[in-house]
Amino acid sequence: MEHHKVLWWSILSNALPVRSVIKKRFHIKDASCFLCGMGEETLEQLFLSCDVALHVWRASPWGIYPVCDTGIRMWDWIKFIWNLKHREIDTHEVFLYALIVVDSLWRTQNEKVYNNRHVDMNKCIDNICNSFADLHASLFASPALCWKDVWSPPPMDWIKLNCDVKVELQSMCIAVVARDYLSRVVGAHTSLLDFSDALCGEATTCCLAVSVAMDLGYKFVIVESDSRVVINALNGMDSQWTLENYVSFCNSYSSRFSSYKMTGNKTQHVEATLASIHTRNLWPEIELLVPLSPPF
Ligand SMILES: [Zn+2]
Repeated sequence: MEHHKVLWWSILSNALPVRSVIKKRFHIKDASCFLCGMGEETLEQLFLSCDVALHVWRASPWGIYPVCDTGIRMWDWIKFIWNLKHREIDTHEVFLYALIVVDSLWRTQNEKVYNNRHVDMNKCIDNICNSFADLHASLFASPALCWKDVWSPPPMDWIKLNCDVKVELQSMCIAVVARDYLSRVVGAHTSLLDFSDALCGEATTCCLAVSVAMDLGYKFVIVESDSRVVINALNGMDSQWTLENYVSFCNSYSSRFSSYKMTGNKTQHVEATLASIHTRNLWPEIELLVPLSPPF
């Protein structure tokens, strides 16, 4: 991983010797891209708009790729990746993929320049996928968690609380919907937070879910969130200093339940439920619970 970081640093501080940079200091006949021969080899050309680059970005699990006729810069691409967090995408995974992509492109360019090795696109994509799978397994391993795509009701006597966060520019709306074993909504709570941080928002929602479960008097509780980072932290599988307060809040409550689980799932379900509650004007029928007393 270290050389990946050094490479990123070189890219972001314009220190990588691509041909457009070399051209400024030494006379070179041809500054066009070694990989595709189209256009001058700049950082953006090599890592974003080159035909080889486009193919490897498109091969990513998210199908994202830079739109290059917009004059996109490396920083724009990084901002784009960072903002994917608002679309329920784990940006840590995307950044890992991005690290591997730029590393592979740089190696491929070097192989071509120094060894005149032919660019094998399929091999390049295979290598990226394999490196991503390896590093992903070692960095994000969570064997105890099973991520499902379908919502299922909890067992009898249990309550399941689904958490959701909508992140706006300056604020976040957090929502918790509680359902019983017949999938009936037995409680719901929404709250507006006057700060904007997706990770803390997810964690706050889990805390809200725990206090909602307490107020409803359930003894068997499942809290479901779509943030792996938060769920891993709450399950003690990973530690994040930004989440410590939230984790200790949830831990202090967990002993009051007979059984208590934190799991991961997609939570479109919460949104759908809240939307239907709003449209059917059912709010008065649903017991709105006391506001969460903040643990922090
Ligand atoms: Zn090229």
